Amino acid sequence: MGSRQVSDWQGRNVTVAGLGVSGVSAARALAGLGARVTVVDGGSGGTHEARAAELAEAGVAVRLGDAETLPEGTDLVVTSPGWKPSSPLFAAAAAAGVDVVGDVEIAWLLRGPDAPPWLAITGTNGKTTTTRMLASILTAAGLRTAAIGNIGTPIIDVVLGDEPYDVLAVELSSYQLHWAPSLRAHSAAVLNLAPDHLDWHGSMEAYAADKGRIYEGNKVACVYNAADPATEELVRAADVEEGCRAIGFTLGTPGPSQLGVVEGILVDRAFVADRHKQAQELAEVADVNPPAPHNIANALAAAALARAFGVEPAAVRDGLRAFRPDAHRIEHVAEVEGVAYIDDSKATNTHAAEASLAAYEPIVWIAGGLAKGATFDELVTASAKRLRGVVLIGADRALIREALARHAPEVPVVDLERTDTGAMSAAVREAASLARPGDTVLLAPACASMDMFTNYNERGEAFAEAVRALADEHA
Ligand code: ADP
Repeated sequence: MGSRQVSDWQGRNVTVAGLGVSGVSAARALAGLGARVTVVDGGSGGTHEARAAELAEAGVAVRLGDAETLPEGTDLVVTSPGWKPSSPLFAAAAAAGVDVVGDVEIAWLLRGPDAPPWLAITGTNGKTTTTRMLASILTAAGLRTAAIGNIGTPIIDVVLGDEPYDVLAVELSSYQLHWAPSLRAHSAAVLNLAPDHLDWHGSMEAYAADKGRIYEGNKVACVYNAADPATEELVRAADVEEGCRAIGFTLGTPGPSQLGVVEGILVDRAFVADRHKQAQELAEVADVNPPAPHNIANALAAAALARAFGVEPAAVRDGLRAFRPDAHRIEHVAEVEGVAYIDDSKATNTHAAEASLAAYEPIVWIAGGLAKGATFDELVTASAKRLRGVVLIGADRALIREALARHAPEVPVVDLERTDTGAMSAAVREAASLARPGDTVLLAPACASMDMFTNYNERGEAFAEAVRALADEHA
């Protein structure tokens, strides 16, 4: 930590919104630098009070039960990812002329003089997977790195920690980008753009604009998805450093300045001496885990960022081979009576579900939950011909049932009215009776899980448990 930054924070009155993981991390860090910090949180009760007591020991004041009014004398508000821009606290800050920033902005501002560069990743889907793939590639190249941002250790803790890094793989949500105006990545990628979280951002345009901030000030490469023109549009709109290049990735044959796929090989026509004549082999499609089309796109994006940082082709291959996906992301649970059971509980929106439905055929699809304002016509139309049958669960299942009736009336649908804890086990049994040997039973709900489960992890566990019970019966 240079002394300049310390003096910047000395005596400042900072209000931190929310007692969550990132809020606590920001509060501790800024108090440690001499700021007078108050955390505000609308909640109350045991857990909140315990956290407040811990923070009090670190010299942080906590105000519970009121998340709306701005504490007297505040000169900066640090927000947490879940808070909507329309939250009354931010309106109060705006009225008082006080800036609002997020944890990523604070982390960026607190970087020391020799801080490692950031390779940043955003997109509607695939962020965590791509960020972890990138970290795996960088590690294979012998670089000291960590996957952080929306994942792993809180970003401020990493930036202020003692661990030395050569480069960081940073996953950024649209919320974090919204509140991080100063961020300037070495290189960045927007994987895809589909409507999501529109309730938070207010409109598709505002959502896209926040994602596009990731390209601002990039030094070496802005990586976009050639199949998703909206991402290329964001590159064009960005103000980047001179010499920074636009690099596309495609599942087809790459043009100059692109990475793509030729006859089962991931190839680079961007980071080669002569991009008009040369193509560099990076890895085989079979090195990507799992080799589903959307995941190959993720691998290409990770490879592009690694290559922008100067990583050698062999490390791209080794890093992809070493990569293991996180739980509940197209996870193969078991094979029972010739039917494969796949857990993609993380497919919490229609765009993600469409990607995983595209990877199998024929499918018995388990779907439903909280729709978050989504419509299902496009998803059902795109996937109808792959469906052997559908089992619907959760609060908003009628929306999916109606879309199926409109676009796939011949597909058998089992509509489970139960939302109790045994419902997933019933869903798996119904799916098993619809499936034939060679089919895939795919949990890709296209919805959030909170109507029936604590989160997507618990939903995926419930599925896996039900599948294992089924496997035991047939063992
Ligand atoms: P995020 O961090 O953006 O939520 P994850 O890597 O955790 O993304 O993947 C979430 C889900 O999105 C996966 O389970 C899969 O269904 C889907 N997915 C992953 N990559 C892509 C992609 N490139 N395009 C569309 N869907 C994807």
